[in-house]
Amino acid sequence: MRALVVHPGVRDSLDLIDLPEPPAQDGPVLVDSLAVGLCGTDVEIVAGRYGLAPAGEQGLVLGHENLGRVREAPATSGLSEGDLVVGVVRRPDPVPCPACAVGQWDMCRNGRYTEHGIKGLHGFARQRWRVEPDALVVLDPGLGDLGVLLEPTTVVAKAWQQVHRIGQRAWWDPKVAVVTGAGPIGLLAALIGVQQGLEVHVFDLVTAGPKPDLVRRLGATYHSQSLPDSGVLGDVLIECTGVPEVVLDVLAYNAPDSVTCLTGVSSIGSQVPVDVGALNREAVLGNNVVFGSVNANRSHYTAAAEALRKADPAWLGDLITRRVPLARYGDALAHHDHDIKVVLDLQAT
Ligand SMILES: [Zn+2]
Ligand SMILES: [Zn+2]
Repeated sequence: MRALVVHPGVRDSLDLIDLPEPPAQDGPVLVDSLAVGLCGTDVEIVAGRYGLAPAGEQGLVLGHENLGRVREAPATSGLSEGDLVVGVVRRPDPVPCPACAVGQWDMCRNGRYTEHGIKGLHGFARQRWRVEPDALVVLDPGLGDLGVLLEPTTVVAKAWQQVHRIGQRAWWDPKVAVVTGAGPIGLLAALIGVQQGLEVHVFDLVTAGPKPDLVRRLGATYHSQSLPDSGVLGDVLIECTGVPEVVLDVLAYNAPDSVTCLTGVSSIGSQVPVDVGALNREAVLGNNVVFGSVNANRSHYTAAAEALRKADPAWLGDLITRRVPLARYGDALAHHDHDIKVVLDLQAT
């Protein structure tokens, strides 16, 4: 079968090659790949800056955002041939640590978790894959191709779940949400904020392309100015860029008692002058919480599936700006103006 394989740590080693069928020890459920979504993590892995091959191997099959259809499943698994499924990306560490032991592998304490297509487990950019039944989430068949958006939606499903849990520390009645970044994660964060009845403000630099209109179609407000210039004070802030200047803005400009979730992974090494005293004063006198969040356990997949089920399919469809056959993976990974989510089509020839 065809598979998109990278040698982690080796820049531009990505190649489409033939691999043997997935081995039986990977699990009893055989899945036909339908689609793989691409994101910044894939770009980092292809650039040789991130990623880890499975133990004893040199190559890593790329692809973590995924959608597939069950081809074979044991009768006892609760799965049937034809089920539309998504593979859970992160798997518990083998010890397991106390968090992984209770199914919260997203909170792993020892760092020995694995992730399909990222860290120690092959990804989904191959024609077929096998997993254990408990590593799959079954989707509403009506979601169709849009199911490839499930994994990125888990990022923000978890962020929102934890924002509200943290908010419960005291009186909590959020009205205004700020989302920084109008890429797939920011737009999906805004979607969930609107679904919860909040007044949502999305901040991004661009003034052209599809992003401003996608925000407006949600009933949210789009800003191409900076957060401080806008005067908007969020009760909830979801930072989706990882850009140091933007991170500083959400730390410094927010409402009293606000909760801020950081979801963007920044590159290391850029230095921005910061008045730590002012930030500390703001946080103390404002009862502010700032927390980081990485996805995702099964409960977040369930919450994300519910958010997608309630969303307008036409709006979700417009997040996928390009669908590219697997054979043209190089074009899929190349940056095009106005890209939001680019998806590899594993069924196209
Ligand atoms: Zn991703
Ligand atoms: Zn763990």
